[in-house]
Amino acid sequence: MKVFLSEVFFILGDSRRKLPLMMMFFLFMSVIDLISIGLIAPYVSLLFDISGSNEFFDWIFSTIGLNKDKEELLVLFGMLLVAVFAFKAVVAILINRSIIKFSQEQQFKLRNYLMETYQRLPYVNYLDRNSSEYVYSIQDLTAQYANSVLLPLLNIVSSGVVAIVIIAFLAFINSVELFLMLFLFGFVMLIYDRSFYHKLGLYGKRANRSSTKLIRGIHEGIEGLKEIRILGKEEYFLDMVRTGAKEYSVNNILGQIISTAPRYLLELVLIIFIVLLVMLTLQLDKDLHLLAPTLSLFGVAAIRLLPIANIITTSLTRLRYNRDAVSRLYSDLIQIDRTESQRENRHTDTKFETFNKLQLNGVQFSYPNTTQIALNNISLEIQSGESIGLIGASGSGKTTLVDILLGLMSPQQGTIKYNDNPLQDVLSIWQDQVAYLPQQIFLIDDTLRRNIALGVNDENIDDKILDLALNQAELMEMVNHLPDGIDTIIGERGVRLSGGQRQRIALARAFYHGRNILVMDESTSALDSETEKEIVDEIQKFKGKKTIIVVAHRFSTIQYCDRIYKLENGSIIQQGSPKEVLGVG
Ligand code: ADP
Ligand code: MG
Repeated sequence: MKVFLSEVFFILGDSRRKLPLMMMFFLFMSVIDLISIGLIAPYVSLLFDISGSNEFFDWIFSTIGLNKDKEELLVLFGMLLVAVFAFKAVVAILINRSIIKFSQEQQFKLRNYLMETYQRLPYVNYLDRNSSEYVYSIQDLTAQYANSVLLPLLNIVSSGVVAIVIIAFLAFINSVELFLMLFLFGFVMLIYDRSFYHKLGLYGKRANRSSTKLIRGIHEGIEGLKEIRILGKEEYFLDMVRTGAKEYSVNNILGQIISTAPRYLLELVLIIFIVLLVMLTLQLDKDLHLLAPTLSLFGVAAIRLLPIANIITTSLTRLRYNRDAVSRLYSDLIQIDRTESQRENRHTDTKFETFNKLQLNGVQFSYPNTTQIALNNISLEIQSGESIGLIGASGSGKTTLVDILLGLMSPQQGTIKYNDNPLQDVLSIWQDQVAYLPQQIFLIDDTLRRNIALGVNDENIDDKILDLALNQAELMEMVNHLPDGIDTIIGERGVRLSGGQRQRIALARAFYHGRNILVMDESTSALDSETEKEIVDEIQKFKGKKTIIVVAHRFSTIQYCDRIYKLENGSIIQQGSPKEVLGVG
């Protein structure tokens, strides 16, 4: 529980500062609560004309209206009751509002923060996880944290304060009855909590695990629909969704039953208490009549304490159930916190320097949790305006080398220099000049315009530059044939486009954003040779003007390069002009 609370606090971040004020609110509420309860019992005993049953009540009457007759006193008292309860209702609503607002604000903040930090996650860490996990964290875990951890926790505290004040008051009035009631309530709550403590945590954990599985099944099953349909393997993904959803329901059912049951149990306890009280009084041969005010006081208090006890047990069970969400968020946030501080060390403010050359010296890289060396002692230099080709068998390290060149990953050994500065110090300057074109171009489910000017708001899109980019990428003809021209929606991942068109969009995007370094990782490999030739010819026009780094299989793609590096098992085994390396040209 201690670890749990410290994790909850950690996730809260700066919002912790709001808590003391809320505590003050809760205390204020409990006092009003107490006054409202304290007024009912005297009202009842006045109604039934019982005096002398309790010193405290007599004291209240004497202070309020010593000299008034009963009717007048009743009217006065009644009005006071209404006023107090009306005030209490207003305060209760306000407090409830502040609790809900606080936890919702937390959810909002956390979602922003998580998205922002996932976007900044070191590339190798990002590779480690399934994308469904990110969706689940931002979407569901934050909601769980806000609604099922913070909200219950605040409810426990606010109700707890009220409960303590009421109990203290009852102790002052009538301690025997109080102890009986406390004992009954406490006993039941404790037993209940103890018996389901571990189970609930387990169910919560399982529900989270099955949820990620569910999301993954949906994601992959829908994304790969084409391949899956032809393979006829829909059942496999349907099953993944089915078992995920089923497992989630089962665990959720169990969790919900356990957390809602106390309400009914506590009601039972209340009745047992009242019956016991009556029987006890009979046993002691006391006048039952005298029991009325005590009973009404305890009745009212119990009616007030019942929902509180209910809130507390329900909240406690919800906390247990959602324990896992907190530890997941916590471990994410703490990891991000660490990489964040590392980033800060690396980032020094440097002024913009146009790309001149990139030098790799003795670069060695292995992926985390692997023993194999993906890149071994790579040294090369790329000058501005050069066209560089990378070739080699599949798995020889071409993509890894490109990712290192892009600055997405840092080598374990060796150095990378950008115009004589360590690359990591000027990373954003370098990346601001690069366009990356992989085989599967990233496209958003939106218009052509927004895909080319990716990440720019509509009002800031420059139509002149856009036209220029379209012309340079030779997309004008296609655009003119589209139903809505440049405002045609191209479908998720460009499903309504051909491979060549997608590559051209990527080129247009690079041109629009004014990128002078094109990095192409087998970007044209999937195209037919005709289309590929068109695109290669296209890029050819920029030879000498733009720096081009191209990974390719086909000879035709790299024959125009100034220099070619051939990789094998992570090492450069040959380098030189196309003629030297390929023996032709
Ligand atoms: P290429 O692009 O030349 O086909 P890669 O650079 O993708 O080759 O891969 C080089 C080596 O690194 C391969 O042996 C591959 O298995 C390994 N590798 C690639 N990506 C990862 C990764 N995320 N985690 C672990 N190993 C990887
Ligand atoms: Mg590759």
